[in-house]
Amino acid sequence: MTALGDLLIARIARTGPISLADYMADCLMHPEHGYYATRDPFGTSGDFTTAPEISQMFGELIGLSLAQAWIDQGQPTPFTLAELGPGRGTLMADVLRATKAVPGFHAAMSVHFVETSPVLRKAQAIRVPDAAWHDTVETLPDQTLFLIANEFFDALPIRQFVREGHAWREKMVGLTDDRLSFGLSAAAPIALLEHRLDDTQDGDLVEYCTALPAIVQSISAKIARWGGTAIIVDYGDWVSLGDTLQGLKAQQHVDLLETPGGADLTAHVDFAAIAENAAPAKFSRLTTQGVFLERLGITQRAQSLAGALNGDALKSHVAAHRRLTHPGEMGDLFKVMGIYPANATPPPGLEP
Ligand code: SAH
Repeated sequence: MTALGDLLIARIARTGPISLADYMADCLMHPEHGYYATRDPFGTSGDFTTAPEISQMFGELIGLSLAQAWIDQGQPTPFTLAELGPGRGTLMADVLRATKAVPGFHAAMSVHFVETSPVLRKAQAIRVPDAAWHDTVETLPDQTLFLIANEFFDALPIRQFVREGHAWREKMVGLTDDRLSFGLSAAAPIALLEHRLDDTQDGDLVEYCTALPAIVQSISAKIARWGGTAIIVDYGDWVSLGDTLQGLKAQQHVDLLETPGGADLTAHVDFAAIAENAAPAKFSRLTTQGVFLERLGITQRAQSLAGALNGDALKSHVAAHRRLTHPGEMGDLFKVMGIYPANATPPPGLEP
């Protein structure tokens, strides 16, 4: 058992079972033993890789979409360019490079990162030294907000509930023979799942991301009031149904309870929950990553970059293009949703 596992076992023995969200929060962000708090997990030799680590084209195209949205909204100045959970800072570095030539964009912006991991903040500072860091979205400046979040919401702790009649039993982490084990709480009606009584049946499992509503409400309120756009990319779908929680280590699935703090834990994102919390701003239609990137011209960009490459570099560039866009790879699994002011149009790539 890991050091965090021993701490959790002692805590549960003392105070009783904890919710899955509490378990995830400690596994990911415990200050001494949390997965993100203590390491840089990215890259092809790491535990998992993400779209900006696969190809520079991902960040470049998102940067151009945001810059066009800024122009379409009349070039509001000054504005915040923010990223939630920036990982190594690669995506923002690509956004900044691609938007350098957009007249006035860099002069009007200040870059803000929302990141809780000290290790990843250091990695981000190497690539984007001029950023300002925040623990939560609450402290982002009160001004126009252009924002990106790639694979951020999937890292937020979720609760899981199993339906029983008109009530729910919550998945808990407890102990069996001094080892961590899953159990279910007694059934109780849960007000925040009232709307799920319409689209579920007895025995169905639903997930609820506890931090999501407040985060989306906070960024949407700024966008509605001062203008801007958020582009949210993640794996998931319109509505979550079923158990999507996964543990990942060295690009392999691992048992959720075996190595607390030693593996990434992620769950699919419920985009309907993002849409429900977007008011008074508007949300775009949910678009697959493949379609979004194609609409932004990834194939032309890939061809132009290919001109300078040969051999293995060319092969891996072609593979990266395919990996980001192909329906059998990230193209369909990952979805994109935009949030934008009621008097503006959706950002390029997310039009109806
Ligand atoms: N966007 C990056 C990294 C995704 S991994 C990429 O595409 O490569 C998730 C990121 O969110 C990490 O940087 C992690 O440290 C951060 N993170 C996770 N939970 C967080 C929270 N509650 N608040 C702020 N950042 C968080």
